[in-house]
Amino acid sequence: MFRLIFLGTSASAPSAHRGLPAMVVAVDEHRYLVDCGEGTQRQILRSGIGFKRLNKILLTHGHLDHILGLGGLVSSFASWEEELDELDIWAGKPTLERVERLLYGVVLDYDNLEVVIRLHELSPGIIESHRGFSVSAVSVVHRGAGCYGFIFKEHDHRPFLADRAEALGIPHGEERRTLIEGHRITLANGRVVEPDEVLGETESGAKIAVIGDTGQTANLLEAVQDATVLVIEATFLQRDEEIAKRFGHLTAARAAQLAKDANVGTLILTHISRRYHEREVRDEARAIFPNTIVARDLEQYQVKRNSGLSRLTDAVAETSD
Ligand SMILES: [Zn+2]
Ligand SMILES: [Zn+2]
Repeated sequence: MFRLIFLGTSASAPSAHRGLPAMVVAVDEHRYLVDCGEGTQRQILRSGIGFKRLNKILLTHGHLDHILGLGGLVSSFASWEEELDELDIWAGKPTLERVERLLYGVVLDYDNLEVVIRLHELSPGIIESHRGFSVSAVSVVHRGAGCYGFIFKEHDHRPFLADRAEALGIPHGEERRTLIEGHRITLANGRVVEPDEVLGETESGAKIAVIGDTGQTANLLEAVQDATVLVIEATFLQRDEEIAKRFGHLTAARAAQLAKDANVGTLILTHISRRYHEREVRDEARAIFPNTIVARDLEQYQVKRNSGLSRLTDAVAETSD
């Protein structure tokens, strides 16, 4: 099960109701902060999720609206006497170089603050693989090299059929774990039980695709295919298609077309420009892909392998931007 927490959903500059890009993807005990626009610290506080274990940061690219919040966040981490003294940051090479200048040239240099920061240069492929899920990076075409999107994927699994196990008289504990791991066991009465006897049909895990700023979609089709949820930018509307192209951004319609072509479950649009009303963005996308939501700051969602997406917070009121 994944939790998605939208901290900032604005493009380029904040508005009265939208902060700069940042969101958290939480799964098991892991929490990933994807992008860290200016003001992210305050949004974390307002969201109530706290800073604990928020020590993995994935950066889509190095534009300032996506990274400036790192300065304040790292400065706070470094001054607190809590266990948040280690930080892993993943990004493409040009982004890492910029982050390095920001952190070591200014933030940490100034007060001689100490925090262990590990910078990891991204390339397409798996970033981390854990017991229940993996995170991988996919190349994204925006302005400049080294832009990435992120795919969070629960491992596929076969559910354990407890009633069958009960009927076969399989004791709780070690024997059941062995079967779940795919190995046969022999019961005390000599009966051999094969994993197939107590494991159901394979269920595919939930898949979350978080794509930051991007000007192209064709190259993303395979990576986001069948995603339970696709989170992607929609900075422009179709009437401003030319500007979108010039700046390497999508229109709401193009984002929706990608969701449709890739057979996505739910489309969540973010990186919303102040030039439009939210409703216009939503309506343009829904005309192509009806199951579209425009993210608002501080909204939280849950994504499960069988039931898809559900909202955890009360709907944040619609605003004029
Ligand atoms: Zn941006
Ligand atoms: Zn950008």
